[in-house]
Amino acid sequence: MPADQPRETVLILGGTREAADLARQLVADRPHARIITSLAGRTKEPAPLAGEVRTGGFGGAEGLARYIKENGITQLIDATHPFARQISANAVEAARLAGVPFEIRTRTPWAKQPGDNWIEVETLEEARDAIPEGARVLLALGSQHIGLFSSREDVHFVVRMIDQPEEPLSLPDHTLVLGRPGGSAAVETMLLIAHSITHIVCRNSGGKAAYAKIEAARQMGLPVIMVKRTP
Ligand code: NAP
Repeated sequence: MPADQPRETVLILGGTREAADLARQLVADRPHARIITSLAGRTKEPAPLAGEVRTGGFGGAEGLARYIKENGITQLIDATHPFARQISANAVEAARLAGVPFEIRTRTPWAKQPGDNWIEVETLEEARDAIPEGARVLLALGSQHIGLFSSREDVHFVVRMIDQPEEPLSLPDHTLVLGRPGGSAAVETMLLIAHSITHIVCRNSGGKAAYAKIEAARQMGLPVIMVKRTP
């Protein structure tokens, strides 16, 4: 690389398994580049990442654009979760403000397979209202969305979280399971059976990490109340 050219510095907006895979690949493929992954800081002990890591919000699109300029970022890649809409919108605007090349790596949504019993809805509110009375639901959502379901006093919820929540969950009747999603349909099947789950509520995130529960539901013939991806 000529001495007068800035060092290649890639900023990956991460927090997903795909972003971690991308960081590993870029570190291996571009040994002279700086590869930085940005995390929101929601998980207390995130899995180790290849390259550098920075944590915490930037302060909106302007803050992200400032970070890009101050840190000599030469490429911005949005590899965040498909339902993390704010940071993705900020990324588009920040790349424009800072004038850096920008790429989006969004997972494709899961496609319904033969045997899947999906009740597809547009919003989390519709998902909440679609749960039948007396159901036992695996609520596979981020902690910020759990409160929406607190009006369903007639339902037992099983909530899985990586970290112990700081505040007790606002759900009237629930079981908290600490841990990451099971890596295989067999592991997820054990969870579904152990808690006598009758329904799963989740969003169509796509990707491998969260798919095992969908496969398990298919094998068990369980209905999945699936919030669709909107453009
Ligand atoms: P969000 O609503 O789009 O973002 C809210 C704010 O959090 C953003 O405005 C930004 O703050 C900060 N932020 C989000 N992602 C960031 C990142 N990678 N680096 C630095 N700051 C970030 O996002 P969210 O739904 O809360 O998700 C937060 C993070 O968790 C994302 O990185 C996402 O990839 C990951 N994640 C989300 C889900 C999900 O279900 N939504 C699932 C798995 C992983 P400032 O405006 O201050 O910059």
